[in-house]
Amino acid sequence: MSHPLKTATSTSTSFADNDALAETVRAIVADVRTRGDAAVRELSTRFDRWEPASFRLDEAQVQEIIASLPQQVVDDITTVQANVRRFAEAQRASMTDIEVETEPGVLLGHRHLPIAAVGAYIPGGRYPLTASAHMTIVTAKVAGVPRVVACTPPIRGEIPAATIAAMHFAGADEIHVLGGVQAVAAMAIGTESIARVDMLAGPGNAYVAEAKRQLFGEVGIDLFAGPTEVLVVADEAADPFVVAVDLLSQAEHGPDSPAVLITTSEDVGRQVMAHVEEILPGMPTGDIAGPAWRDHGQVIVADDLDEAYRIADDFAFEHVQILTAEPRLALEKMHAYGALFLGEGTCVSYGDKVIGTNHVLPTRGAARYTGGLWVGKYLRTVTYQEVRDEAASARLGTLCGRAARVELFEGHARSGDVRAAKYADAPLPW
Ligand code: NAD
Repeated sequence: MSHPLKTATSTSTSFADNDALAETVRAIVADVRTRGDAAVRELSTRFDRWEPASFRLDEAQVQEIIASLPQQVVDDITTVQANVRRFAEAQRASMTDIEVETEPGVLLGHRHLPIAAVGAYIPGGRYPLTASAHMTIVTAKVAGVPRVVACTPPIRGEIPAATIAAMHFAGADEIHVLGGVQAVAAMAIGTESIARVDMLAGPGNAYVAEAKRQLFGEVGIDLFAGPTEVLVVADEAADPFVVAVDLLSQAEHGPDSPAVLITTSEDVGRQVMAHVEEILPGMPTGDIAGPAWRDHGQVIVADDLDEAYRIADDFAFEHVQILTAEPRLALEKMHAYGALFLGEGTCVSYGDKVIGTNHVLPTRGAARYTGGLWVGKYLRTVTYQEVRDEAASARLGTLCGRAARVELFEGHARSGDVRAAKYADAPLPW
């Protein structure tokens, strides 16, 4: 039976938990819907103190911003994007179109068609999340999306230069410096200056995630990718210092970002907690990671690894890091997670920033029903059918006539009847 060494003081995990937040988002979305660009401008001024002549950057502005960056930053952006692109291309190649002859003359097929217009939200209220541009935009382009509109907020009144460069190199067709719910709503609903998109993608804070939830249906969304979560499964083989560093690496995302350790070793658990307290005071982002750890951090001691994996599955967290003697066992044992990080050689930061898997991942339990962002999310799997054989169509027509009449659909039945009559001389029953 497991027991806790540290419990969370706040465990708010549900979207419905925060009615006030949902109401704020509803009012902003309604305002953008009725007043378009005028509302977007007012909201940007109110929430971000940002009111440029145009939110959209033209090509000359983008080039000027790129030229202001150190060459190393530009080179690193293109290197990481190449990693993301390589993996996304391999995933795209795994999605083959099919056509099968299910009976003689009956052809059924499916094809994967890209969505025509995607709105990519690249977060940046707190940090310039340059890597989110790689994840959302490169992947959309590999999927073949012809129009990608990309929005990112200013950071403390400044344009986030590296993020703009990443949006450009990733292939964004329109780049806007615009943040929060007003950006998401403008892309989904459309305004005088932004033509509406068909799908929203990208992570964001709780306001952005709630806006996507409210707009779902009117547009498609990739998934609910809200405040970051990390869970580490560790046995006695784990290095407690590395575990502590890795937990804090994700807690720094935001004061609402939970970090959880499940360990089979009480000794490892206690050492990790001590290391966290040693590291936090000297950590430049300790003002965020500290409260996140204090309010949302948990340490649980499990009897054995099987129990640890079961508990980890119940959390269904975004990131799960396995620091055990046999990390690959988790591939068999675990079933609910956004991304697994197997062994000490890798870490969530590699996934977040450089390695090439997508970092837009399900949070708040959404991993129970979806994986993270990938090319497949930008593709619509559509089907088609053709019956080339008259005898097959007559057979299907007779079957369809009977099946439809069971459901009292006389019109449907008659479409079958006419084919049975035409191709097999069957009498029309009406
Ligand atoms: P953000 O861009 O998501 O949000 C900033 C915007 O929030 C601002 O532009 C502002 O307009 C709006 N806002 C702020 N306070 C508001 C208020 N009181 N009312 C209405 N609007 C308000 O940037 P962020 O805040 O830094 O958050 C980024 C988030 O993305 C973090 O929570 C991080 O954990 C998460 N993230 C998640 C994933 C994932 O895959 N799940 C990946 C990367 C980042």
